[in-house]
Amino acid sequence: MFNLVIFGAPGSGKGTQSAKLVDRYGLRHISTGELLRDHIARGTKSGKIADGFISKGNLIPDALMLDILADELDAAPDARGVIFDGFPRTIPQAEELRKMLAGRGTKVHAVIGLEVPEDELTDRLIKRGAESGRSDDTPETIAKRLDVYHSQTQPLKDFYTGESVFHAIAGSGSVDEIFNSIAAVVDPIMADAEK
Ligand code: ATP
Ligand code: MG
Repeated sequence: MFNLVIFGAPGSGKGTQSAKLVDRYGLRHISTGELLRDHIARGTKSGKIADGFISKGNLIPDALMLDILADELDAAPDARGVIFDGFPRTIPQAEELRKMLAGRGTKVHAVIGLEVPEDELTDRLIKRGAESGRSDDTPETIAKRLDVYHSQTQPLKDFYTGESVFHAIAGSGSVDEIFNSIAAVVDPIMADAEK
């Protein structure tokens, strides 16, 4: 299995680039944000709990996130590999992901970190909020999510740099330019992993 983590602040383009990664590499896309929005839309017990955290711009509790993710990982055990989008978002989540993958005889092969200036992130999210109506794309909630990103998620950059799998990618410019930079990093890593 080949496993990629797509990493970056809210609005950095993780979902957009994931769709292109699916096309090029045939990986399965697991977006925890989409999973949670689906739980909320279906009115599940997990969804009801998650909704209160998400609409305030907070992360949902690690234990709840990990339960939902474990179900999803077991849903397609023989995929070529997985793109994790929006996960892990905390150090305990990263540690748990390492254990879950090790238990399946695999690991995180690469972390692609999309780096976008803060003012551009805010602009993108405000624009998306106007179009999508997402409950967390409002100006107050966006500021909160960026704070949460800096305090709880950004430390993962050091965590994965320590494991020699972190690759920073400039996340401004056209979608295709950014994707070309990602593919230039991922192609050789994937070739090596599947040798
Ligand atoms: P992007 O715009 O780059 O796709 P995002 O931060 O806007 O990223 P999602 O990844 O869709 O949005 O996540 C939306 C919300 O769902 C988060 O703000 C958080 O409340 C919750 N969430 C998603 N993933 C996790 C996670 N791994 N741990 C805890 N909460 C999560
Ligand atoms: Mg997303």
